[in-house]
Amino acid sequence: MKRTLEWQIATVTSLRNETPEVKTLTLSLPDWTAHRPGQHYDVRLTAEDGYSTQRSYSVASEPERKGEIDITVERIADGEVSAFLLDTVGVGDRFEVRGPIGGYFVWDKSLGGPLLLVGGGSGVVPLMAMLRHRAVAGVKDPARLLYSARSYEQIIYRQELEMLAQKNGLTVAYTLTRTQPSGWKGYTRRIDDAMLKDVSAPLGPNALAYICGPTALVEVAADGLERVGLPAERIRTERFGPSGT
Ligand SMILES: Cc1cc2nc3c(=O)[nH]c(=O)nc-3n(C[C@H](O)[C@H](O)[C@H](O)COP(=O)(O)OP(=O)(O)OC[C@H]3O[C@@H](n4cnc5c(N)ncnc54)[C@H](O)[C@@H]3O)c2cc1C
Repeated sequence: MKRTLEWQIATVTSLRNETPEVKTLTLSLPDWTAHRPGQHYDVRLTAEDGYSTQRSYSVASEPERKGEIDITVERIADGEVSAFLLDTVGVGDRFEVRGPIGGYFVWDKSLGGPLLLVGGGSGVVPLMAMLRHRAVAGVKDPARLLYSARSYEQIIYRQELEMLAQKNGLTVAYTLTRTQPSGWKGYTRRIDDAMLKDVSAPLGPNALAYICGPTALVEVAADGLERVGLPAERIRTERFGPSGT
């Protein structure tokens, strides 16, 4: 029986700035098991006085990387755990984690077929695990990512996405909802039906869709994809919050 729900002590082995408010932490795990892209871990922090709190973080890395996972954490205003992970944690620090968790919002190469990913803000994290896995596994079926961010500077994994988009039939479309650099050719508005139609149409009605981000974005995108012709049973969603609802 797999021990996915037991806590283990992760050690931070590296930190990388992704954007001014987002960092990736590489965690070495003594009891690593391969995750399915889309799954998450719970992180539990315990203070010296015994106060303890936990939050969920999606795995950003591909399961082919053994013994460690990446999590990517975005700063939430007044956030307790995100601020600690971004401002206080350093290489060599240790904290408890358990996982991988989740069996619904997952995609791997065995599912095959056209893949549509829609992400907002840090909602791109589990989608990135899918894209990294897809690249390493050499999946050639078409994939499209629609990624909503507030500004160009807030696009997480920008350079890697550009690289991934040059191979294996991946197309990436961005919408920048607050500010855009001069000469920006992507979308400039919140996700709507017209945008979803543009992005999803080339994949046809057999695409499998994964939507992740703030609750409001997930609801708009899931309803919209149905309206533009994707069957509800082909759409999977993950809401990041607030409070994971
Ligand atoms: C399955 C799952 C996977 C997740 N994966 C990731 C991930 O890969 N990267 C990541 O950065 N986060 C992820 N989250 C969100 C994460 O679990 C925390 O909710 C987030 O880091 C905020 O925690 P905090 O302690 O900093 O904020 P808190 O102290 O809990 O909250 C501070 C304030 O911010 C609000 N708030 C809490 N969470 C959010 C949110 N997500 N968006 C907007 N407002 C919020 C609260 O209502 C409160 O008002 C995931 C959530 C779920 C349920």
